[in-house]
Amino acid sequence: MSKITRTVWGRQMAFCFRCGYSTFQWPTDRLETHEICGGVNRQKALKEPACWIRLCPDCHREVQGWSKEKQYALKMKFDEECANVDAFLAIWRPKATAQFRAEFAAVVGAIKEKI
Ligand SMILES: [Zn+2]
Repeated sequence: MSKITRTVWGRQMAFCFRCGYSTFQWPTDRLETHEICGGVNRQKALKEPACWIRLCPDCHREVQGWSKEKQYALKMKFDEECANVDAFLAIWRPKATAQFRAEFAAVVGAIKEKI
């Protein structure tokens, strides 16, 4: 099965994962796709649905300063279908130990329960 493209995924995700703004509100079409894993691995992240969250410009600026765990909690909460901690970590921290992966998933799960 081929992966969903960033453009198609973005069209399906018609709301901001942080504040709930939706494209059906005015002003329309303000949403942006954010790669949770930016920087040197951004090119890989552009093709991996497990790395994306959908945000309005205000929340996009805000979320850039969040920990990866907190960002990933938004992913888990609002896009369970494409959320995949292992696929995300394979790009963000390819050399992560099993312990690191388990701890990351546990922290993400704990934050998700509070948002
Ligand atoms: Zn927002």
